[in-house]
Amino acid sequence: MSEDLFPIPADWAAHARMNQTARAADYRRSLDDGDAYWLEQAQRLDWITPPTRASDSSFDEADFGIQWFADGTLNVSANCLDRHLAERGDVTAILWEPDDPSEAPRSLTYRELHAEVCRFANVLKDAGARRGDRITIYMPMIPEAAMALLACARIGAIHSVVFGGFSPEALAGRITDCDSSIVVTADEGRRGGKRVPLKANVDAALALDHCTSVRRVLVVRATGGAVAMQPGRDSWYDEAMAGVAPDCPAEVMNAEDPLFLLYTSGSTGKPKGVVHSSGGYLLWASLTHALCFDYRPGDVWWCAADVGWVTGHSYIVYGPLANGATTLMYEGLPSWPTPSRIWEVVDRHQVHTLFTAPTVLRALMKEGDHHVAKTSRASLQLLGSVGEPINPEAWRWYHGVAGEGRCPIIDTWWQTETGGAMIAPMPGATDLKPGSATFPMPGVEAQIVDGEGAVQDGASEGNLVIARSWPGQMRTVWNDHERFFQTYFTTFPGKYTTGDGARRDEDGYYWITGRVDDVINVSGHRMGTAEVESALVLHATVAEAAVVGMPHDIKGQGIYAYVTLNVGEEPSEDLRRTLTQWVRSEIGPIATPDVIQFAPGLPKTRSGKIMRRILRKIAEGEVSAQALGDVSTLADPSVVADLVRSRAGVA
Ligand code: ATP
Ligand code: MG
Repeated sequence: MSEDLFPIPADWAAHARMNQTARAADYRRSLDDGDAYWLEQAQRLDWITPPTRASDSSFDEADFGIQWFADGTLNVSANCLDRHLAERGDVTAILWEPDDPSEAPRSLTYRELHAEVCRFANVLKDAGARRGDRITIYMPMIPEAAMALLACARIGAIHSVVFGGFSPEALAGRITDCDSSIVVTADEGRRGGKRVPLKANVDAALALDHCTSVRRVLVVRATGGAVAMQPGRDSWYDEAMAGVAPDCPAEVMNAEDPLFLLYTSGSTGKPKGVVHSSGGYLLWASLTHALCFDYRPGDVWWCAADVGWVTGHSYIVYGPLANGATTLMYEGLPSWPTPSRIWEVVDRHQVHTLFTAPTVLRALMKEGDHHVAKTSRASLQLLGSVGEPINPEAWRWYHGVAGEGRCPIIDTWWQTETGGAMIAPMPGATDLKPGSATFPMPGVEAQIVDGEGAVQDGASEGNLVIARSWPGQMRTVWNDHERFFQTYFTTFPGKYTTGDGARRDEDGYYWITGRVDDVINVSGHRMGTAEVESALVLHATVAEAAVVGMPHDIKGQGIYAYVTLNVGEEPSEDLRRTLTQWVRSEIGPIATPDVIQFAPGLPKTRSGKIMRRILRKIAEGEVSAQALGDVSTLADPSVVADLVRSRAGVA
C-alpha cells in the first residue's frame, strides 16, 4: 500500500479547531481522564437535566451493560431545532436537490423545519403514536424523511428507517421484527429518472400473513402518482398536517432511551436491529461531525448517502442539525443524468464539504475525468469517504482530480454499530496517507489483537477491537440482548469485536484490511482482500475488483479475483496474464491471483458494498440457489446469475 504522506495544508493548519498537538493531547486526556472529559464534551448538547455521570459500562459477562450520561435528560429534536431558533432561526437547515436537475431545489430554514416537525409530531400522536412505540419510515430522499425522524424524536417514538430500495419482503421482515405500529411512506420515490412504487410496496408488505402489527400508514405526496388508499388505515400526510395544532412540546427523554433502531445492511448475515441511544448517540454524531469535518457555520455540508443508512442518520440529519449546519439532501443518483451530476450539484449549491463512498468514486472514475473537468468545484474545501476501504488509486483520484489537490480526504472508518466515525483524520490535525483512516477519535481505545486476543503493540496487523465503551456505541440488538453480547463481546472477552482486520504502521496509522471473515490464508500467509483489490484497481484497465479465497490443494487457499474493466476495455487472455503479473509485481509472488474472472457487474448490497459471501460461494463452485443463500438485500440480484454463467469459462 502507498506510504506517501500528504501534509496538512497550511490554511487548514492555521484555522482548524484542532491542530496536530491538540489532537494528540485531547486523545490522551479522553482516555486518561474519561469521565471528566466526557462530562465536559456533553456540554455540546442542550440538556433538560445535565448528567452528573459519564460512562456506566462494562464489556465483561458478569456485569455486562452499556450506559452513558444515565441520569441526564434531553430531547433530540429540541437539540437539532429549538435551540437554534433564537440565533439561527433564519439559517437554512435543509437544502434539497431534486432527482431531475431541471426542477427547482427546495430549502427550509431552522424556523420552518421546526414548525413542520412540530406539526408532524402531532400527526403521529393523532395516529396513536406514543413514547417508545416503533415507527417504520420507508421514504424517498425528500425533506419529509428528515422531518419524520425528528418528529419521532420529538415525541419519544423509536424510528426504524428502511431504505426505499428494499423489497416488500425485506420491509415486512423489518416491520415485524420490531412490531411497528405505524409506517410513514410516500406515494412514490424517484431515483435516476425512475419511479419507485413505495406505497405499493408497503401495501404488498402489509398483505403478507406474518406482517400484522401496523395500524396506520401515513403517505406523503411526493410524485402525485396514483396509489390505493385503504380507508381507516391510510391517510395523506398533507391532509393530516392541515388538521393539527402547530406546536408540540418536546418529550423529556432519558439519555439512555432508544432514539432509533436500524437494521444493518446484511453483508454478513441476517440483519440485526441495531439500537442507538438518545444522549450518547447524539453527542457522538455531533462531536464527530464537528471534529472530522471541522464544520463551520455557513458552510454547505453534503453527505451524499441515503437516509436509510446509518451514514444518513448521523451525517445528513442528527450530527449536522445538532451543530446548526446547512445540510444538503439529494434525491437522486450521483451519476444521473450524466456522470457530471455530483459535481454539478456541488456547484449549484456551493458545497463546502462532500462526504461519499468509494463505490461512488470508482463508478465515476470509470467514466473518465472529462465529466469532472467541465465543472468548477471551486467551493469544495474538504472531501470525505465512508463505507469501505478506499483504494489508494481512488483516493488519489478523489484528491487530485475531484479536489484539484486542495481538499484533504477524510476517510472515516466506522460501522452502524458505532454510531459515528471511530478512526478518521481531522483536516487541521492529520497528515494523510492514501488508503489509511489514520487515527482513533477521542475516547476510542482501538487495539489490534491476534487470534488468541493478545494485544499487539507498535507496527502490527490483526483483529481490530475497541477496548472500552464510547458514547455512540449501540446499546443492544432489538429484542435480542443475548445476540448483542454473543456477536460482539465473546470472540475477545472484555472487548468490542469489530469484525474488521487492521494494520497499524510504524507511525501509528491504522489501515483497515477488510472484514476478518474475508482474510485469505495463502500457504500460511494471511492477506487482506483490500490489499489485492487495491493493486488490481491500480492498473489502468481496471475499474473495480473483488477478491476472495478459493480452496487450493497445495496452498490451502488460492486467490480468486473478480475484475470489472473500465468503459472501453475488452477482456482477453492477454489482459488476464498482464493483470496476474501486475499483482505479482505490486505486492509479491504470494499475492498472485490463481483465477481472474472478468465480471461486468459485482454483487453489491443496496448501500453499494460488495457481498463477498456470494463471491466466495461462486469461487468454490457452490452455485445452487441454496448455497448462495439470501440474495434479497442485493441491489441487482441478476448479477449473480451472470457471474455463475461466466464462471464456467475461467475456473
Ligand atoms: P452487516 O454488518 O449487516 O454485514 P455492513 O457491515 O456492511 O453490514 P455497515 O455497518 O454499514 O454494515 O458497514 C460497516 C463496515 O463497513 C465496517 O465494518 C467495515 O468493514 C466497512 N467500512 C466502513 N467504512 C470504512 C472505511 N472508511 N474503511 C474501511 N472499511 C470501512
Ligand atoms: Mg457490519
